[in-house]
Amino acid sequence: MKSNERWGIVGHTWAVESLEHAIRTQRAAHAFLITGPHSVGKTTLARALAKRLLCMNENAPCGECRACVKNAKGVHPDVMLLEGVPSREFYVKNGSTAPPRKNDREKRILLVDQMREMEKWLSTAPFEAKYKIGIVRRFEDANEEAQNAFLKTLEEPPAYAILILTAQDAGLLLPTIVSRSQPLALRPLSAETVEHALVEKWNANSADAQLLARLSSGRLGWAVRALNAPNVLETRREALDALNALVQEGRAERITRAEKLSKDSAALPQMLETWQMWWRDLLLLSSEQNAQVTNVDYMNALQAQAQQFSIEDIQRALNATRSAARQLAQNVNARLVTEVLALNLPRIE
Ligand SMILES: [Zn+2]
Repeated sequence: MKSNERWGIVGHTWAVESLEHAIRTQRAAHAFLITGPHSVGKTTLARALAKRLLCMNENAPCGECRACVKNAKGVHPDVMLLEGVPSREFYVKNGSTAPPRKNDREKRILLVDQMREMEKWLSTAPFEAKYKIGIVRRFEDANEEAQNAFLKTLEEPPAYAILILTAQDAGLLLPTIVSRSQPLALRPLSAETVEHALVEKWNANSADAQLLARLSSGRLGWAVRALNAPNVLETRREALDALNALVQEGRAERITRAEKLSKDSAALPQMLETWQMWWRDLLLLSSEQNAQVTNVDYMNALQAQAQQFSIEDIQRALNATRSAARQLAQNVNARLVTEVLALNLPRIE
């Protein structure tokens, strides 16, 4: 059995192999930095590494010992997982037990108080294992003050401490944090790997698995969440239907539609991401790379538009959509951004 399978990890074979090798040869680092896109499997790997290190049997992680069972339930007393909280007020009221994120973009902050909480927790010896393992998710949510507080722990950790950070990109963190951690950069999985896992491990039917695998851009966590949340596909369908209506409309109708779309400003970033995938699909079709297309269930509409629009039209639409997404992120007025974009899309004759 491959190490990643034993660890219960889909894909990321090299990352697990290198960790397994380091642990077996007793050269495992005391701090790790796992980077990669949202929902690609960073926290899953962090938890699996903790399980591997704390397992009490030879063939670790065995999945059966007391430590493995507690880790599977997320209640091992020598593992602490921190993530950002919605606000300081929330933290004062509830401490670090943050509710699950509503979506990938929900804003959270890691506070300096949380870093101190972990430092204090690490200052006493393990309760039942050899190590105490502190995991901090999405370390990019930590401001500089919190990162500096954590740096102190990272510089002089107790001998039994293992620290695992996850972040989208090492470039978002203080260089002093990055240089003290062993890097593990996770890349998106192939669509085939995601599709296969959805069918085998999450009992998806093959049509859903194929579509979600493509929409996920190789992020298995996203695909699994989408599988259990039917509104993800529904929201995507609405976004594509709106786009397909827009390209058939004249100026006045576009402005009306854009105004309506911009009212749900929280939904706009996801909508624009869906639209970007659409234009990328059209570029792929125009260069006859049909096998790479994401929106496989819209193949007829895509092919019709690939016939109608020139590559320049498509590229311009993709650029306009990207720039709209950037402007929204910079808090430019949503209605204005949506209107300008709507008017910049090509029209089906
Ligand atoms: Zn075990």
